[in-house]
Amino acid sequence: MRAFSYFTSKGEPRIGMEFENKRYNFTYIWQIFKELKNSPQTPDYYFLQIMIEMGNFSRKVIEDVLTEIKQFRSLDDLIIKETIRYDVPISRPSKIICLGRNYTAHAEEWKSKVPEQPMFFSKLPSSLLPHEGYIRIPKNIGRVDHEIELAVVIGQKARKVLEKDAMDYIAGYTIANDVTARAQQGVAIKKGHPWTLSKGMDTFCPMGPYLIPVDTVENPHNLPLELTVNGGVKQKANTKDMVFKIPELIAYISNHITLEVGDIICTGTPEGTLPIEPGDVIEAKIADFGVLRNNVIED
Ligand code: MG
Repeated sequence: MRAFSYFTSKGEPRIGMEFENKRYNFTYIWQIFKELKNSPQTPDYYFLQIMIEMGNFSRKVIEDVLTEIKQFRSLDDLIIKETIRYDVPISRPSKIICLGRNYTAHAEEWKSKVPEQPMFFSKLPSSLLPHEGYIRIPKNIGRVDHEIELAVVIGQKARKVLEKDAMDYIAGYTIANDVTARAQQGVAIKKGHPWTLSKGMDTFCPMGPYLIPVDTVENPHNLPLELTVNGGVKQKANTKDMVFKIPELIAYISNHITLEVGDIICTGTPEGTLPIEPGDVIEAKIADFGVLRNNVIED
């Protein structure tokens, strides 16, 4: 079961749900369910973030809805047949927090040490880019790299969460590419400046295509990751090699920063980050979470 946000051919936002290799209009499925339950006060769902906020984004809820509806009607006419445009699963997170050096081999390839505490920075929500969107590289900014990362989407407000409870605060997982203006970042590091520009440029945060409900993923710390450029494998690793694991990250971050519903934590990239250039096609895959594909163009 994989959820996604999309726009219809008329440009209207919808939630899609993919199961048994078919894609369904879940916004409509939910409306039918509301009618069955005679519950007009329940909101319609056009955005995954609202569905998460209402506590209805889980395999259990979605399966219950489908089971109930199937008793009365076929779902065949709810299959998406039109041409759609993907949106990012969460289009308005209050923040995107990204881990630096959270895989030993990646820290080593940049001659850095793994930090003693999680080291994080933030990407700007305005840098989000959906599946099949274009990564735009400004002229003359020097080297720009890809960085595949497992992204965690927060499911309920988290403040001072204990490690043992941290997994309860997750809505689901998706794939992120922490595109980095590496040359610019190098200049910033030398000057002691922040990374906001090198990490936060428009289109530098491709994400998606799917949001995978947390209760469908047995172990987020054993997922193969692979990123290809023009079909050639550049990054290949497994989330088991993460230094600070997800519960530790949520506990550490939420001790000082309240995580809101829809906030995103990018858990760091493994080794093999390499330059990209206009004309490249980048594909990022994690387990059976789908393929996040983006073309690169000059801006
Ligand atoms: Mg990164």
